[in-house]
Amino acid sequence: MTPKQKQWKQRAWFKFRLLGFNLFTSDVNQFLTPDEIADLYEINRIVRKLVDNFDKGSRELGFNVPEHKCYLCRKSAKRKITIPYHNTTEYFCNKCAESSLNSLKE
Ligand SMILES: [Zn+2]
Repeated sequence: MTPKQKQWKQRAWFKFRLLGFNLFTSDVNQFLTPDEIADLYEINRIVRKLVDNFDKGSRELGFNVPEHKCYLCRKSAKRKITIPYHNTTEYFCNKCAESSLNSLKE
């Protein structure tokens, strides 16, 4: 394993752990003080910020991480399509875009 591969593996594992990092439960206000809950919100905000910026950081380190991921399969996506009835615009890979557009025609 090259150092770059090792770094990627470490980053992927770190991101996986970050995504599962959730200290909140519905009953925190029954056993934590308001100050502790405020700190918990701050921790959660920082973890969200780390997750949101993680792909950008990977690109800065030279890893091949796509800027946009497919709404359906999470692979690299370049086509921006407005979803009818949802009124949202999402990115799709060519394969998912073609199959979605074909299903709309039928
Ligand atoms: Zn796709």
